[in-house]
Amino acid sequence: MANKLIQRAEAIEKGERTYFTGKACLRGHLTERYCSTGGCVGCERARSRSATPLPKVFTPRQIAIKEKHKTYLGHVCEFNHSGKRFTTSSACVECNSTKRKKARNFTPKKRVVKKRIPKVKVNKEVIIKQEKQKVESFKEMAKRIYERDQQW
Ligand SMILES: [Zn+2]
Ligand SMILES: [Zn+2]
Repeated sequence: MANKLIQRAEAIEKGERTYFTGKACLRGHLTERYCSTGGCVGCERARSRSATPLPKVFTPRQIAIKEKHKTYLGHVCEFNHSGKRFTTSSACVECNSTKRKKARNFTPKKRVVKKRIPKVKVNKEVIIKQEKQKVESFKEMAKRIYERDQQW
C-alpha cells in the first residue's frame, strides 16, 4: 500500500481514487481516504468486514439462559423497577408479581346458576292437599274479613 501524501484536490486532479493526508481518522485509521467522499478507507474496510459475524457479545439474558438462572438483570421497566427479569419471558419480575397480586384480588363475578326446578311427579294427593290448603286459607281470609266487617 503506497501511502502517498497527496492532498485530496491534487489526487482528484491526478485522477486517483484515494488520497492520503497523513492524519488518522476519527476511529484511528491511518489509511487513505476516498477522493469521492472523503471517507476513510480503513473505516470502509471495517464496515464491509462487519458483514461477517462480529465477536459474539452475550446479553445478560443469554448469559442467564446459559447459566440456567431463572432471572437476570435486564433493563429497567417502565415502572422503574429494579430491572430483575425472568429469563424465560424477559418480563419484569416486580411487574409480574403486582399483576399476580391483582389477579389474586380479583374476584370473578359469581356465575348465576339457574337452579333447575326438579320435576315433581304429579301426585294427585299432593295437588288435592295443596288445593285444600288454598281453599282453607281462602276461607280463613274470608272469615277474617267477615269478622272485621262485623266489628265495624
Ligand atoms: Zn477510519
Ligand atoms: Zn416492572
